Amino acid sequence: MALLVQKYGGSSVADAEKIKNVARRIARAKDEGNQVVVVVSAMGDTTDELINLARQITERPTERELDLLLSTGELVSSTLLAMAVETLGYKAVSLTGIQAGIHTDSNFSRARILRVAPRRVVSELKKDRIVIVAGFQGVNQDMDITTLGRGGSDTTAVALAASLGAESCQIYTDVEGVYTADPRLAPQARKLTRIGYEEMLELATYGARIMHPRAVELGQFYNIPILVASSFGDSPGTTICKEASMEVRNRVSGIAHDTNIAQITVIATPHSPGTAAALFEPLARANISVDTIVQNASVEATTDLTFTVSRNDLVKAMSIVEPVAKSAGAKKCVADCTLGQVSIIGSGMQNTPGYAARMFRTLSEQGINIRLITTSEIRITCIISEERIKDAVQALHRAFELEFA
Ligand code: ADP
Ligand code: ASP
Ligand code: MG
Repeated sequence: MALLVQKYGGSSVADAEKIKNVARRIARAKDEGNQVVVVVSAMGDTTDELINLARQITERPTERELDLLLSTGELVSSTLLAMAVETLGYKAVSLTGIQAGIHTDSNFSRARILRVAPRRVVSELKKDRIVIVAGFQGVNQDMDITTLGRGGSDTTAVALAASLGAESCQIYTDVEGVYTADPRLAPQARKLTRIGYEEMLELATYGARIMHPRAVELGQFYNIPILVASSFGDSPGTTICKEASMEVRNRVSGIAHDTNIAQITVIATPHSPGTAAALFEPLARANISVDTIVQNASVEATTDLTFTVSRNDLVKAMSIVEPVAKSAGAKKCVADCTLGQVSIIGSGMQNTPGYAARMFRTLSEQGINIRLITTSEIRITCIISEERIKDAVQALHRAFELEFA
């Protein structure tokens, strides 16, 4: 008997009818002779609504309380889904993150899974029950509830698949798979049949929210194929796996965009050893992840240092950086929240010249000004005005001929 781990995202369980639809799909998987573990996200926009509610109480809610609050969203959907499955005549049980054995560190709002102890899941499966696990949540060593970061239910699902020894993990969502770009921005985007872990990881890290990056990382580490497909139909979807078909003709596999970035520039920092360390160490201690970092060549013994953080971290990051920059003798710190980033990604770009030039030419033909550029072996990212992101994605999609397989 095969063990299946399925995950259903928020839009797939947004109302009672959709929950009943998901229940029918789960029943079908059970009828096909599988043991079924389901991970579910909060209904529709519940998580956003809970965050808004907390912000109406206070601008800076306590992280512990916020995580506990947000975890309730997944309790609502998992219990309702268990009821819906039982109504169809199947045995089901819903489990919280703790009951499913999801142990995490104590970094509230971005906790990492340390280990999964799925004893209860296994014992419920032995009783022939369908197990429905609340995604996105875990528990730390103090028995406080933690959450894994936005989109984290994907990570719950892949972690459970790994710890239970499932052959694959199925992620059901509101689109038919992984596309060459976000279909909401680029209607001409094409669904990929397969994509490698590395490319998917770059796409997800640079904004393609179809998958939580850490879920892809776990899939790669444990070599678990991840199927991404629609919860509303039966089209085949995209498999994220080790050997993706190399697209020989078209070496860019996809375009990612991200508008959840904020840029911080420390202006006229004295150019002396230790300044960058003094700025970034306290950010690291506060667990703020810093992305693109650019330091200009020094002019008259001072330099400008620019980096990006996620917008939710901006207030905290500025409160850390401003005093450090001041004591280091920098002129001032400036924050900019009007930017976004667009990336082209493809393992076929490695060691092949011309991709960067074509990307920059395409953006310039659109009259788009590039503020910062960063690269990895398989990615080129440009930071541009947020307002031009859609134009950039569409123009790059055309320039790299991504609509053609
Ligand atoms: P869920 O609630 O099921 O987890 P998400 O909203 O987190 O769903 O992710 C699905 C969304 O990801 C899609 O609706 C789509 O707009 C967006 N998306 C971004 N990039 C891509 C891409 N390359 N392929 C498919 N969808 C993408
Ligand atoms: N409900 C959480 C969120 O909206 C987790 C998830 O959907 O994966 O981010
Ligand atoms: Mg998601």
